[in-house]
Amino acid sequence: MELFEMTALELSRLLQKKEVSAVEVVTAFIKRIGALEPRLKTLLTFTPAGALQEAEAVDRKRHRGEPLSPLAGVPVVIKDNISTAGLRTTCASRMLANYIPPYDATAVRLLRKAGLPILGKTNLDEFAMGSSTESSYFYPTRNPWDLDRVPGGSSGGSAAAVAAALAPLALGSDTGGSIRQPAALCGVTGLRPTYGRVSRYGLIAFASSLDTIGPMTLTAADGALFMGLIAGYDPLDPTSLNEPVPDYCRELEGGVRGLRIGLVKERLAAEFDPQVITAVRRALELLQENGAVVEEVSLPHTAYSLPVYYVIGSAEAASNLGRFDGVRFGLREPGASITEMSSATRGRGFGPEVRRRIMLGTYLLSDDSGHRYYVQAQKVRALIRQDYENAFQRFDLLAGATTPDPAFKLGSKTDQPLEMYRTDICTLDDALAGVPSLSAPCGLSASGLPIGLQLTAPPLREGLLFRVAHCLEQVLGTPVRPPLAAAGTILREGERRPPCSHRMGALSDG
Ligand code: GLN
Repeated sequence: MELFEMTALELSRLLQKKEVSAVEVVTAFIKRIGALEPRLKTLLTFTPAGALQEAEAVDRKRHRGEPLSPLAGVPVVIKDNISTAGLRTTCASRMLANYIPPYDATAVRLLRKAGLPILGKTNLDEFAMGSSTESSYFYPTRNPWDLDRVPGGSSGGSAAAVAAALAPLALGSDTGGSIRQPAALCGVTGLRPTYGRVSRYGLIAFASSLDTIGPMTLTAADGALFMGLIAGYDPLDPTSLNEPVPDYCRELEGGVRGLRIGLVKERLAAEFDPQVITAVRRALELLQENGAVVEEVSLPHTAYSLPVYYVIGSAEAASNLGRFDGVRFGLREPGASITEMSSATRGRGFGPEVRRRIMLGTYLLSDDSGHRYYVQAQKVRALIRQDYENAFQRFDLLAGATTPDPAFKLGSKTDQPLEMYRTDICTLDDALAGVPSLSAPCGLSASGLPIGLQLTAPPLREGLLFRVAHCLEQVLGTPVRPPLAAAGTILREGERRPPCSHRMGALSDG
């Protein structure tokens, strides 16, 4: 097996046993990026020299016998709305095309401290507003399973990079689905943590009451390892939760026996692609065969999640993006007066989707007509939260599809914003409720496109999500790599793997 085909956990074991050096690992991924990146366009900035330097430093420390984190030497890519000191951070916008932050986001600081070499910054929808990575000012990213299709968004570059084995680990951000939806469309595992679990410090703000940073990985075990590095209290983020961080890896092996799973009926609606419905149902049947108890549940107010999300999200975006005025950051277009300069800068610096949200949000925050929508949306958000509190009295976790359909063709929804927004119909409500939510691959469509199962847990129960996703990997034989990335198998219809508890050995010897 090639180094680039390995999971982060496998690489970490080889590195710890000194069977391979960090420089060798990083070199393998640099070559891989060189081979596939021209077709996939996952990165906005590629930093091979910096990554090699960081790898050399890790190798020197290991050689001297200094204590190292388990992921030291395992490379990572970072979504380009997460600040990296000295490294361009563009938000895929013309506004910030040349912006170099003076400081690291807390998540990035923690990764650097743990010795993870940074291979580059990944493409996204402009300011993380979108579901296909097509609103990037620079170029769209392609889905490694089918180059004519989108990787999802807004963390499309991160998802495609992990799927195509350009990097074993990626950081994404999720405001209303931007980690989970691209994870589903690219066949990787993506976690939106509990709001406040991972510091937002240094994440360029879109909608502050919804924004989160989270891991995108090939497997649940990698997600658990990665999450252990970035989770935790941060005094620099006033919404950060001051709660102990559990050992997510320890929880992985628990299996699913006795777990009560609520199948959310709104997340398997009749109008969804029948192949999505079949794959999700089959995954739940397999969990049932392994001892979980699955029953249907309804989250009735999620019918309103789309309008509620677009009202709250746009209002917060309009307010947050007010800082891009041509004075303080990034682009400045010429103008005879400060007003002219600022309006030219904002008019030319932002693309159409970002402008749409700023205009909508500005209206919603105006004190006459718009404001009542905003107040109403906040009230409905409270009802959505209440639905979860009710459901979690009966269930340990909730499940359903991550997206109504597999990956769509590039260009097919760019002129239809509502159709684009609808692709997040299953991911918005968890975001509004602030609960942790994970997408795990659960099969392929007839045309070979990945399908995602979404699992939702009560606040701070990320470990439970990794545990169920880990079990699912054992029984389904996921994850698989796209044909372009070679290696990997998926079960044929009717084939069964032994129950997950029999296959748990692999992790414990690490
Ligand atoms: N697609 C959703 C939007 O456009 C969610 C984006 C996100 O989570 N960053 O707002």
